[in-house]
Amino acid sequence: PAITNHLPTAELQALDAAHHMHPFTTNKDLADKGARIITRAKGVYLHDSEGNEILDGMAGLWCVNIGYGREEMAEVAARQMRELPFYNTFFMTTHVPAIALAQKIAELAPGDLNQVFFAGSGSEANDTNIRMVRTYWAMKGKPTKSIIISRKNAYHGSSVGSGSLGGMTPMHEQGGLPIPDIHHINQPNWWAEGGGMDPDAFGLARAQELEQAILEHGEDRIAAFIAEPIQGAGGVIIPPATYWPEIQRICDKYEILLIADEVICGFGRTGNWFGSQTLGIKPHIMTIAKGLSSGYQPIGGSVVCDEVAEVIGSGEFNHGYTYSGHPVASAVALENLRILQEEHVLDHVRDVAGPALHEMWHGLSDHPLVGETTIVGMMGSLALTPHKESRAKFAMEAGTAGFMCRERCFANNLVMRHVYDRMVISPPLIINPDEIKEFGRRARKALDECH
Ligand code: PLP
Repeated sequence: PAITNHLPTAELQALDAAHHMHPFTTNKDLADKGARIITRAKGVYLHDSEGNEILDGMAGLWCVNIGYGREEMAEVAARQMRELPFYNTFFMTTHVPAIALAQKIAELAPGDLNQVFFAGSGSEANDTNIRMVRTYWAMKGKPTKSIIISRKNAYHGSSVGSGSLGGMTPMHEQGGLPIPDIHHINQPNWWAEGGGMDPDAFGLARAQELEQAILEHGEDRIAAFIAEPIQGAGGVIIPPATYWPEIQRICDKYEILLIADEVICGFGRTGNWFGSQTLGIKPHIMTIAKGLSSGYQPIGGSVVCDEVAEVIGSGEFNHGYTYSGHPVASAVALENLRILQEEHVLDHVRDVAGPALHEMWHGLSDHPLVGETTIVGMMGSLALTPHKESRAKFAMEAGTAGFMCRERCFANNLVMRHVYDRMVISPPLIINPDEIKEFGRRARKALDECH
């Protein structure tokens, strides 16, 4: 029989386990436990094959900013598929969806970030960035400037290049990563690593590690620094206020290209179009993906400042993807930006959903298992701890408490993710105050069940 939503869950799970290798999963577990099968979604709610309605506190993977089930997006995709389902943007050809989307992104992006190089995902866009910044310096007659400085516990994707930029040890343990000339400094994670320092002094010290790294390798070796304005997959690590101004000062002083990875922070997540605006950063390049299309189509890109684009454009850049500026993905992303703009979703984040989410989230801080709760815009995290005052870690293996909490959330029809023993949230931006209250009820119940 055809494989449809009408087959029994166990049968679908068995087929899934037999043929489908999942990302970031111990695949042999699929046969024992069976993956949860998501069948449809609307607004902030997912539905599974067992008839449950699950509140998606993660907007899929930090991406479904406008929420699920928007008909206009489906219509635009269908229209574009009928008119021009594919054509490439290589070799002096282009098409209207790519032109219109690039223009719109340039209009929304701050400063002179006026040019877009399209990719199919955030990982691909960061691979582009590696090649672009090294090529930029080579074209400027400084080919030794090839080292890119990144941070431990950063996430920039899982391709060979972007996974090398990322600073997660488990990613580097497999597949021969990192590639040469990538250097990692420490992250500004005060809760876990600040010890007895006050947050501002700690933020400054962590930023100054960039200067130390530049001096250690030599200025003539450094191409760029890359960072997420707020680390997302690393656990929503919101840096102390002193951190970014110092990073900016150092990049300016040593003429280091600054790449802001906006894959999560972009398109309203922090209350502005880009996290760089919220955090006061002036990047030369921004990586975008996820919220660009609210996940309705795979698309990403690098938004590039005039000077870098001009240097790169002065010769042939031997780089690109078949699906760079894919017409259907571009048209869908453009429709997503229209919805964000015309429905004033950023105002909703700033005035309605943000304040309600902050109140709900900080309200959980009286729970005995909850240490710090932190949140900017619509991305937040909380530290699970057996002892708030000392910021103690659990005696169990790191991540066990987080995993338990995530499982209890899931059992209570709430998606929250854990990063070791930190719970993270990133709901659709269009979530309303009643749904946020429901989110809070389910989260508290899950925490109670872990206690
Ligand atoms: N950069 C950041 C900051 C991300 O969070 C992610 C994905 O989570 C990526 C890059 C990689 O994007 P993709 O999964 O679309 O390749």
